[in-house]
Parts: sequence; C-alpha cells; structure tokens
Amino acid sequence: EEWPAARVRQAFLDFFESRSHTRWPSSPVVPVDDPTLLFANAGMNQFKPVFLGAAAPDSPLGRLRRACNTQKCIRAGGKHNDLDDVGNDTYHHTFFEMLGSWSFGDYFKDEAIGQAWDLLTKVYKLPVDRFYATYFGGDEKAGTAADTESRDIWLRYLPKERVLPFGCKDNFWEMGETGPCGPCTEIHFDRIGNRDASSLVNDDDPTCIEIWNLVFIQFNRESDGTLRPLPAKHVDTGMGFERLTSILQNKMSNYDTDVFIPLFDAIHKSVGDGIEPYSGKLGSSDVGKVDTAYRVVADHIRTLSFAIADGSQPGNEGREYVLRRILRRAVHFGRQKLMAKQGFFSNLVDVFVQVMGGVFPELKENEKKIKDIIKAEEASFENTLVKGFERFKKAADAVKENGGAVLSGQDAFVLWDTYGYPIDLTEVMAVDFGLAVDMEGFNVCMEEARQKARNARFKAGEKSIILDANATSQLLNQGLGSTDDSPKFQHEEH
Ligand code: ATP
Ligand code: MG
Ligand code: MG
Ligand code: MG
Repeated sequence: EEWPAARVRQAFLDFFESRSHTRWPSSPVVPVDDPTLLFANAGMNQFKPVFLGAAAPDSPLGRLRRACNTQKCIRAGGKHNDLDDVGNDTYHHTFFEMLGSWSFGDYFKDEAIGQAWDLLTKVYKLPVDRFYATYFGGDEKAGTAADTESRDIWLRYLPKERVLPFGCKDNFWEMGETGPCGPCTEIHFDRIGNRDASSLVNDDDPTCIEIWNLVFIQFNRESDGTLRPLPAKHVDTGMGFERLTSILQNKMSNYDTDVFIPLFDAIHKSVGDGIEPYSGKLGSSDVGKVDTAYRVVADHIRTLSFAIADGSQPGNEGREYVLRRILRRAVHFGRQKLMAKQGFFSNLVDVFVQVMGGVFPELKENEKKIKDIIKAEEASFENTLVKGFERFKKAADAVKENGGAVLSGQDAFVLWDTYGYPIDLTEVMAVDFGLAVDMEGFNVCMEEARQKARNARFKAGEKSIILDANATSQLLNQGLGSTDDSPKFQHEEH
C-alpha cells in the first residue's frame, strides 16, 4: 500500500474523528499567551488549562471531551532542544508535526492503548512483530509505583519480552515541580525486524525509534511532593508524523520521505557545480558533510517559515535570537558545504509553501512576508559570512599548526561580535576542524563586553540610551554563551 505523507496525516485524523474526537486546530508555533514557553513543543501545550482545571466549564475547551489534531512543534530551545541532533541524525527535526489525541476526563488507559494499537496495526497495517511498548517501572525516590495497569494492557497485544519498564526520565511526565502528572507508555518501532531489538529501545538507535507517547495524567504533585489522585483523569498522546511516515514508506530515515524530497530537489538546484544530489549519507561516510548540510537546510527552512507565518522573526532576543541562530546555521551550511548560490535559502520558500500550504494555509497567506523576512536576514548575514569564515579558518589553522585542540574564547568572541556568528555555529564549525571552543573564555569576553556596555550607558546618561538602544540590547541579550535560551526562558515548562 502507498502511504504518501498527506494520506498518513489524514488517516490519523479520520481514525480519531470516527471515534468521536473533535478535530482541533494546531496552536501557533509561537505561543500566544504562555510566557513560560519558547515555542509550542507538544500538542498538549494549548490544553494546559484543561489539565490544570482552569478551563471554564462552558467554554469550548471546557466542553471538550475528546480531541485530535496535528500540532506544529519546534524543539530548538528550552526544555526540549534538539537543534544539535538536527542534520546529524535521521529522526530529530527542529520543526515537526505531532499527531495528537486526547481524552479529557473521558476514557482512560484501556481505550487509549487499544486505539493506538488498532490504528497502527489495522489502519496502517504495520507488522505487529516490530513493536515494543515501554511503561513506567516505578521510582522509589519519587514515591511513585509502577504502572502495572499499562503493562497488563500491553500484554494483551505483545509478548512480555517486548513490554519493557523504564524510569522517570522516559516514562513519567510532569508539568512542573507541582501540578498534574502521571506515567506514560511509549510505542517504539524496529525499522529492521527479525531480531531482538529490546536493548535498542530508548538507546538513541536510529533503527529502533520511539514513535508514540501516551501520557496518562492521573495525579497532582502536591507542594510536599506527594501524589494525590486527580478526580478527572486525562489521556494526552503525541506521535511524530515524520517518523510514522518514514516507517509507512519503508524508509530508514525521515528524510527519505516525500516530506523532504521536494525540498532536497529544490536545494539541489541552488548548489554549486559538482555537488551531488542528496544521497542520505550519515556521519563519517558523509564526506565533506554534504548530506548533513542538505538535512540542516531542509529542516531549517521549515522552522523559519512556520515561525514567521505565526508572527515571529529573527532578532536579537530570546525566541527571535533562536530563529536568527537557526537561519545563520542554515545559510552557513548551504554556502560553505553545498556552495549554494547567494539568496538560496529564501528561494526555498516557494517550494516549501507549495508542499505544505494545503494543510497549513497560514503559509500561503504569509508567503510574501516569509520570503521577504528570510531574504533580508539572509542578506545581512551574507555580508559577513565569507569574511567571518576566513577569519575562523585562519584562527583554526593556527591552533592546529601549534598542536592545539581548542579555539580560544577570544576568537569565538570576535566571530560573534564582528561577524555575527552565533556561538553554537562557531562550535559546529570547530568540530568540523577537530577542535573544541573555549566556552569559559568566550563567556569572560561576553561578560567584559556587557560590563563595558553598562558602563558606557551609565556614563552617557539617559539620552544616549535611546541612541544606543540597538547596540546595547544586542550586547545585553545576544549570545549569552550557551546554546540555551536567554534567562527569561530558562524556567520553561513542558
Ligand atoms: P526522543 O526520545 O526521540 O527525543 P521524545 O521522548 O523527546 O523523543 P516526546 O516528548 O515523547 O518525544 O514527543 C512525542 C513524539 O514526538 C515522540 O514519540 C516522537 O515520535 C516525536 N518527536 C519528538 N521530538 C521530535 C523531533 N525533534 N523531531 C521529530 N519528531 C519528534
Ligand atoms: Mg527528545
Ligand atoms: Mg524519548
Ligand atoms: Mg517520549
């Protein structure tokens, strides 16, 4: 059977709609009214009020009992940051769709697991002997007993060798220090088969991947740490759309599906002479890191396009600086590894909007804005990209000639300060040269620069604050020396 991506998505929604779930729109990737959240990173974000018991009973959210959707997610900062994996592996993206289903105080574990199993094995007709299920094995320290209910339900579908217990990290979900929480059960798929893959589950192995997380919200974590059973129990599930699609298309990588192939074709049109089309090579077999660059560029245009369509843009602070870093990373990989032509990145918008605009009309509605913003941002980095890279190469070569292994913090700072290279991009380039970056040294330089900016502001008095607002806020807010977000986002919740 053929499973083009569009049919995979539709079949998921149809399945849950036929089981009385209301199809609910994705929330924007840029959260509207949740300052604790950098980007939408899971389908449950917009349903938080329901889990907290804060949705008015006669509001649309408060009346909802069953829902399903595809949620636009970005995981490039905060609690979930997959940016470093993107390009290097086959199944983490910065932007992805999470197919979700919910029960709000309606059905619970039995029905949720049964539905998931039916969808995967009867609708998608995936082979039953490729699946593993994980359940919460209990944690004495957290005062939480094993979820034997989920285990026993799974034993109706799977042999016991493929029903595996894990600890809090993978199988217990909490919204924060206190609040709604509960065990989860996850479904993993062996892309190869005819083997015992149980040791590969939750082991970062691309051939045996997690596809679906079913969270059972049944407790409230009280301020004294104890768990109080909730009066209304909820189900919150999320499945990676691109992962599911790769499995249904019998591919070993998310990137080998029709979600990404049109983008690779478009990228190939912009690359330099002699650069081959995308061929899926990974790690050390990816000589020159050409395929890594294809993956990075294709992933990043998705993230930038959706973030701009939903109202954000690259800039100097917080969320906007995350977008700037992602854009510069893409432009660097495209220009340096693929020898892509100037302006190649914004030129990808057309194809991307063609591929996704049907499902997400906000892309079509904002096509011109997306293109204009990316184009301008791309051009501004172009100005310093080549000189900055030369500067970097000189410094890196010098370190290597002297038998060193670490690029100095001062060099990294000059790249940031003069050429606009985000520190995580400098780290990526350094790794390519077999070098580390002296982060401590970089942070010292940053702190000095910040101190200088503060002093200058203090001396100059009120008036010039306005004049200097740009430069100063850049210094105060940008590139705080870690790949994480600026401090105000550090306490983000799920
Ligand atoms: P992983 O362990 O693979 O990083 P996760 O446990 O962080 O995944 P969840 O928070 O449980 O992921 O999210 C639910 C589902 O969303 C996952 O089972 C997976 O299929 C998908 N998913 C999570 N992160 C990504 C990502 N960066 N890119 C694509 N799909 C993802
Ligand atoms: Mg993860
Ligand atoms: Mg996981
Ligand atoms: Mg998970």
